Amino acid sequence: MQHFQKRILITGGAGFLGSHLCDRLVEEDHDVLCLDNFFTGSKRNISHLLGKPNFELMRHDLVQPIFIEADEIYNLACPASPIHYQYNPVKTVKTSVMGSINMLGLAKRVKAKILQASTSEIYGNPAVHPQKEDYWGNVNTIGLRSCYDEGKRCAETLFFDYHRQNRVNIRVVRIFNTYGPRMHPNDGRVVSNFIVQSLNNQKITVYGDGSQSRSFCYVDDMVEGMIRMMNGPDDLIGPVNLGNPDEFSILELAERIIELTGSKSGIIFKPLPQDDPLQRKPDISLARKKLDWEPTIKLEDGLKRTIEYFKGIV
Ligand code: NAD
Ligand code: UDP
Repeated sequence: MQHFQKRILITGGAGFLGSHLCDRLVEEDHDVLCLDNFFTGSKRNISHLLGKPNFELMRHDLVQPIFIEADEIYNLACPASPIHYQYNPVKTVKTSVMGSINMLGLAKRVKAKILQASTSEIYGNPAVHPQKEDYWGNVNTIGLRSCYDEGKRCAETLFFDYHRQNRVNIRVVRIFNTYGPRMHPNDGRVVSNFIVQSLNNQKITVYGDGSQSRSFCYVDDMVEGMIRMMNGPDDLIGPVNLGNPDEFSILELAERIIELTGSKSGIIFKPLPQDDPLQRKPDISLARKKLDWEPTIKLEDGLKRTIEYFKGIV
C-alpha cells in the first residue's frame, strides 16, 4: 500500500481557493479529501485530480455532521462573494456557525489540527487603516453583508472557545481579497467582473466613484501563506492577516484591466452597495515576522494569468 504524508481534509475544496489548495497538497503527496456541496464550487475545478491515488472527492453539506479521520483540516466551506452569500443568508450563517461546530467537533475527536479561513470582513468598514489583527472591527449586525461577516466572526469565537475549552489545535487566518484562475465568472467580485466585462467589450461597472480601495493577493501567494500557517508553531494560533498590502482604488483596477486586455470597454458608474467598505489594506507584519511570508506576485502579473484563464472560458 502506498504511504502518504498526512490525511488532509479540505472543506470547500472544489471552490476557487480550495481547489488551488488541493493542487498544492496533492502535489506534496498528502492524502487529500475534498468535501464540498458544490453550491459555488465546481467539479471542473478539481476534475484533473480525480484519477490520482491520493485525492478523494466527497459531496457533503457541512451543516450536517460527518465522521471521518484526518490529521489536518482546512475549513474553507462558505460562499465568499456577496451575490452568493446573500442568495440564502440563513444558510450562509449556518455554514459558518454549524459548519465550524461540526469541524471543530471532528478535530476534537480525532485530535486534528484545524485552520479556519476567516476574512478581512471581520474588520467591517474599518475605522483603522491599515488593518492590524488587534483591531476589533466596525461591523453592522443587521445589514445585507452581516450574514457573512457575523457568521465568520462567530466562527472565530468558536475556534478560540474550542481551543480554550477543549485544547483543540487551531489556526485562524484572515484572508484579504484574493484573485486568480478558477474564480467563478458570475460571482460579482470585482476582478472577475472587470475581466469578463473587458473581454466581452462591455462597459466596466464601477460602483460608487471608484475611490474605495482594496488590496489584491494572487491565489498562489495565499495558498503558500495558509500552508505556512498550518505548519507554523503551535503557539501561533492567530488570527493572522494574509493578503497583499499593495492598495489600489477600484478605478485604478478598472483602468489596469482595460489596458491589459486591450479592451474597448468604457466605464459606467453604478451605486455603491450597502455597507461596502471604503478602504481595505492588511497590515501583514505578523505574517512577515512569524511565518516569513509575504506576497511575491505583482498585481500586473497575477492579472495577466487570470485574464488568460478567463479567455479560455468566456
Ligand atoms: P468559493 O465560493 O469559490 O468556495 C467556497 C466553497 O465552499 C465552494 O466550493 C462551495 O461549494 C463550498 N460550500 C459552501 N457552502 C458549503 C456547505 N454548506 N457545505 C459544503 N461546502 C460548501 O470561495 P473562495 O473564494 O474559494 O473562498 C474560500 C474560503 O475563503 C471561504 O470560506 C471564504 O470566506 C474565505 N475567503 C475568501 C476570500 C477571497 O477573496 N477569495 C477572502 C476572504 C475569505
Ligand atoms: N465592485 C465594483 N464593480 C463590480 C464589482 C465590485 O466596483 O462590478 C467594487 C465593490 O463595490 C467593492 C470592491 O469592488 O468596493 C470589491 O468588491 P468585491 O465584491 O470583489 O469584494 P469585497 O467587497 O468583498 O472586498
